[in-house]
Amino acid sequence: MMEGPVCRVACGCYVLLAISIGAHCTISIDNLTCPSTLDPQTRPAAAPFVEANGPATMSIPMIACSSSLSEHNSNGSGINKNKQMVEQLQQYGVFSSKKVAEVMETVDRALFVPDGTPAYADSPMAIGYRATISAPHMHATCLQLLEQNLQPGMRALDVGSGTGYLTACFAIMVGSQGRAIGVEHIPELVASSIKNIERSAAAQLLKEGCLQVHVGGMYSSELAISKEDGREGWPEHAPYDAIHVGAAAPEIPQPLIDQLKPGGRMVIPVGKIFQDLNVVDKNLDGSVCIRSETAVRYVPLTSRDAQLKGY
Ligand code: SAH
Repeated sequence: MMEGPVCRVACGCYVLLAISIGAHCTISIDNLTCPSTLDPQTRPAAAPFVEANGPATMSIPMIACSSSLSEHNSNGSGINKNKQMVEQLQQYGVFSSKKVAEVMETVDRALFVPDGTPAYADSPMAIGYRATISAPHMHATCLQLLEQNLQPGMRALDVGSGTGYLTACFAIMVGSQGRAIGVEHIPELVASSIKNIERSAAAQLLKEGCLQVHVGGMYSSELAISKEDGREGWPEHAPYDAIHVGAAAPEIPQPLIDQLKPGGRMVIPVGKIFQDLNVVDKNLDGSVCIRSETAVRYVPLTSRDAQLKGY
């Protein structure tokens, strides 16, 4: 059971509204590709079917899908395309925060997607092991929701850190006096995320140890790897000002609520087929307030075995 009183502000009508808007607009799909065909000129600026202050949740046609790491390295045009991607997200009303724009411009997405895949398209991309890197609009949405809890010196936990993209963004926002901890239960993804981060603007923070990525859910004492699954958080550096969960939980794991600092915020997709991006605020008295930001579709927060077998 959750500690303290819980208030729940639900927004229950978006699925129907989304359907009524038609095939071009959808719930935010984090692990499926669902490109929009609307002309960017005629597209409305912000999500028409979520609450008025919600993020745009449609897929946005992004810069031509040609960018790759080699292009990024050879002439720096990748960085320009990354900037254009960020500008387009702002233009379409996905987010408005200057800090979010700054960090997304600093961390080049091309360094985190598999080489040869369209880094700047507004769509999730497969990264192997039945996992995906989230679409840029979801990254932007989560960063903006957590912005106040990612100030210099604060502590952030990224559960299901995947490619390490958001962990790197968190680390840059909280800086060298803060902590950004990623937990991921696929060891191969942890290894590749560390390589990604080493090539990114967050490399120095990784070196200094204020950015860490851990393998969760390993039970081998021989390997000296901690046994915590992402669902158990990462108690060593708790409490956290910000917790982000990159995979959908059937319900909010209590250890994550416990590891949230009073005044802290967690952003977590909750549900099975129908999922909501929940925003969990812990009040100073320890009570929590939960509201739904928007409907989403993420891969499940589950055990490694279940994930690898196809859930
Ligand atoms: N934010 C990441 C999302 C990766 S997809 C990104 O954009 O790169 C979700 C990730 O959660 C996957 O990498 C998956 O392996 C991981 N995951 C799922 N269940 C988990 C669990 N119980 N513990 C830790 N990681 C988990």
